[in-house]
Amino acid sequence: MVSERMKQSIERGKPMAALFTAKDRLVSRFGPDDVYDFSIGNPNVPAPATVKESIIKQAKELTELELHSYTPVEGYPFVRKAIAEHDREKFGVDLTEKNILMTAGAAGGLNAVMMTLLDEGDEVIVLKPFFGEYAVYVEHAGGELVVVPTEEGTFRIDVKEVERAITRRTKAVLINTPNNPTGVIYSEDELRALADMLYKKSNDLGIDIALVSDEPYRDLAYGGQDVPYLPKLYDNTIIVYSFSKSLSLPGERIGYITVSDSMTERDVVKAGLATAIRSLFVNAPSLIQRVVCDCIDDECDVAYYKRNGETLYEELTKIGYECVKPEGAFYLWVKALVDDDFEFAKMAEDHHIAILPGSAFSGPGYFRLSFCVAYETITGSIPHFKELYDDVCGK
Ligand code: PLP
Repeated sequence: MVSERMKQSIERGKPMAALFTAKDRLVSRFGPDDVYDFSIGNPNVPAPATVKESIIKQAKELTELELHSYTPVEGYPFVRKAIAEHDREKFGVDLTEKNILMTAGAAGGLNAVMMTLLDEGDEVIVLKPFFGEYAVYVEHAGGELVVVPTEEGTFRIDVKEVERAITRRTKAVLINTPNNPTGVIYSEDELRALADMLYKKSNDLGIDIALVSDEPYRDLAYGGQDVPYLPKLYDNTIIVYSFSKSLSLPGERIGYITVSDSMTERDVVKAGLATAIRSLFVNAPSLIQRVVCDCIDDECDVAYYKRNGETLYEELTKIGYECVKPEGAFYLWVKALVDDDFEFAKMAEDHHIAILPGSAFSGPGYFRLSFCVAYETITGSIPHFKELYDDVCGK
């Protein structure tokens, strides 16, 4: 009954699915108070109080029909207008509600983008390591994923490698900044170099290459630096944003796509996205659209995640782990102490720690720690990381 494509996705997802139950396994082995779960990126900072206030206000003030009816496919115009105004001011660009389409989170947005851009066999370049779901988004839209290495050890964009991977079938380069799993934020210089190369290759090959920027962590930057706004550097940019992490609303499924006016065939692209949103059922839910409109100026508790990331980085580095200093998002990317990162995840479990092996992100030999956890989880885990290190590497 099931398509070959889906069967492959199921098989590929199996090792990961097992890891998502790591916490339960650890709790049954060691009890609830001595387990350190760094596996999943579920924000632990609560949503701002304004979210609950807005939900209550909407429920009280609106009729049932107003609350629960279908919304326009692109989302409510007043919500898109508020977002456009917010981003126009923040990034100093020209935007109106016509540039914004609401979606069910970044996942909904990315699926709609892939369905809009790809014909069977079109290629999408991603940079290694990458969020594993990209393979599903691209392949289920009929595309092929082309995986390109980043710079050794720093995980920054290697523009030459991207250039080498471009063919006449290249439809898009999909990047993610701040990055899951490495925590890297691409600088303006490196993005400009990427954009310049894409202009040149598009011109040489006579094709249009979209730069799709997946930015659910845009508001989680720790060095005081801004995440560069890509449409300023490259006309054919599509940004996919989500409120899952910035407002701690991952279960509500709310985000949006930005298509700037400079995009080639921009009206057809927007019509394609609206069609994809409708046919994939990734419309943004109505109540939560109104809520993010009320909370658009609320900010995430970046300082909380920053302290977590700094402590984990400093303590693990002191022990001897090789880590990438996180500039943004809430992940620490660490070299595994043995070659087989799945084996290493099992060893970590023996020391009460749940991690995700790098292979889940096409980054074998590494592991990812999600530090959106209580600060006490960070401090409590350090002696266990030390024992794990001593066990594998000797004292
Ligand atoms: N892209 C990246 C890089 C992510 O890490 C995630 C979720 O963790 C998503 C997309 C999906 O985000 P959303 O919850 O908004 O669908």
